[in-house]
Amino acid sequence: MTLQRISAAMLAALLASGPALAEHHKSFGYGAANGPEKWGQLNDKYALCEKGDMQSPIDLAGANAIGSLELSVSYQSGPLTVSNKGLTVQADFAPGSTMTSGGSTFNLIQIHFHTPSEHAISGKRYPLTGHFVHATEDGRLGVLGVMFEQGAANAELGKILAATPAAKSEATTVPGRMIDPNGMLPADRSVYRYMGSLTTPPCSEGVNWHVLKEPITASAEQIAAFEKLMGDSARPVRAINNRLVVAPE
Ligand SMILES: [Zn+2]
Repeated sequence: MTLQRISAAMLAALLASGPALAEHHKSFGYGAANGPEKWGQLNDKYALCEKGDMQSPIDLAGANAIGSLELSVSYQSGPLTVSNKGLTVQADFAPGSTMTSGGSTFNLIQIHFHTPSEHAISGKRYPLTGHFVHATEDGRLGVLGVMFEQGAANAELGKILAATPAAKSEATTVPGRMIDPNGMLPADRSVYRYMGSLTTPPCSEGVNWHVLKEPITASAEQIAAFEKLMGDSARPVRAINNRLVVAPE
């Protein structure tokens, strides 16, 4: 049999269509080629990132209502389980910690981080945010956002950072170490509240967003450590459109 000689251009075209490279092109990030403005084009499943009109984050100064909201949390200490996901650092939680809002009970699943904060207030972003991701038994998502400003170190963040590998990792439970989500909450539980989306692809909507008005502190070293692990990992704010955004009184 004779082998067909192929040109360099044909070879390049073949390689470009290979699965490994195609996968690479589809993975989202925060750079020029795969950043937030491109997410909707990276994958059919990410269409909402571009076409959705209830997207997150937003600038909370755009709130169009004021109200006191019933938000309560009942969080328990649990085993410290962390992973370096490349674009974020995540701590996973066993069942037993809940947030109650608007008559619904949401179970805490994981807390992950972004640098800088994704939500803004009058254009101002905090250097770090934690997203406490919850779901109801019937699968509705509820997120509680906590802003960190520079100040005293936070002990729970310290535990997460100490356990997070520098390179991407699977979730690993640290023997004998516990983490208490209550240690990453401010005393004042006043929240901004609106309906939004996941802030990363697939940008699914129907997420019950709560962002605490009062920030807590993390040390300059802790903020720098998160920045080093994750890099810039904040999606630009999206339009509020025809949404109710309730600010705390
Ligand atoms: Zn997040």
